[in-house]
Amino acid sequence: MATSRKTVGCILGLLALGGAVVAGALIQRRRTRLPVARERFAVLDVPVDPLTMEEAVSRIESFIAAGGPHHVFTADASGIMRTWEDPELRDIVRQADLVTPDGAGVMLATELQGRRLPERVSGCDLVDRLAERSAERGYRLYLFGAADGVADAAAAALVEKYPGVHIAGTRHGYFTDDEELKIVQAINRAKPDILFVALGIPKQEQFIRKYFALLRAPVMIGVGGSFDVISGQLKRAPEWMRKSGLEWLFRLIQQPERLPRFAALPRFVWTVLRHQKR
Ligand code: UDP
Repeated sequence: MATSRKTVGCILGLLALGGAVVAGALIQRRRTRLPVARERFAVLDVPVDPLTMEEAVSRIESFIAAGGPHHVFTADASGIMRTWEDPELRDIVRQADLVTPDGAGVMLATELQGRRLPERVSGCDLVDRLAERSAERGYRLYLFGAADGVADAAAAALVEKYPGVHIAGTRHGYFTDDEELKIVQAINRAKPDILFVALGIPKQEQFIRKYFALLRAPVMIGVGGSFDVISGQLKRAPEWMRKSGLEWLFRLIQQPERLPRFAALPRFVWTVLRHQKR
């Protein structure tokens, strides 16, 4: 009995994976026929900048050169959905200097609007590319967020991958309201060029906006669970899954407790479609 249930489970799992792969391939085929978006546009009132990873990195370097605080928001489907439903978060995101398209949901929403994005620019990839640039150009990076020890482990992994990367400081992301000012002061003492804030949405965006004028980092980027991945706590999806827009499936297999969050994806697509008709 137990064996036959297992077999049915396996078959269903394989069918789901097969279906997702076929859907991914079909979407990929349709995608190449659409014109590439070039100007900032909106997905559910959230601005999105259709840049390649290289262009996003150059824009961030221009923020560092200009000085002054800049906020970079990495927008995935669940982040956009939260922003759509939360007026305070919407205000914060609308003021962001750069919004990168992160995830298969945003690519799909763009395609539903008749355009395609040149590339996906995720928080995790941004941390990686900026670490590489830091090793070449000396930018100072501060890693703030995630569970105790994870930011340190992520910093160590970056140092190993890019010897010469400048880690200005690290701090875990669990704190009381009373500790916030001390954290801001510690970050300022470290003089980072780029502050990565990995507290999840909306906490990281609220922290960045709340201390925008006090934090002396020219660039602040909300990067969600990136340190968990970079430190090796969570595995990154293989290249083929990322390319076919199936990274979410890989994450779901590793963290089935996130299922309710993934349920936001169909709701997101549905809301985009409904909003478009008006
Ligand atoms: N986190 C944190 N402080 C908190 C809540 C969360 O540092 O008070 C961290 C958590 O450990 C994880 C990250 O924030 O590393 C959130 O990851 P998730 O992938 O959920 O981010 P999202 O998808 O919301 O951007």
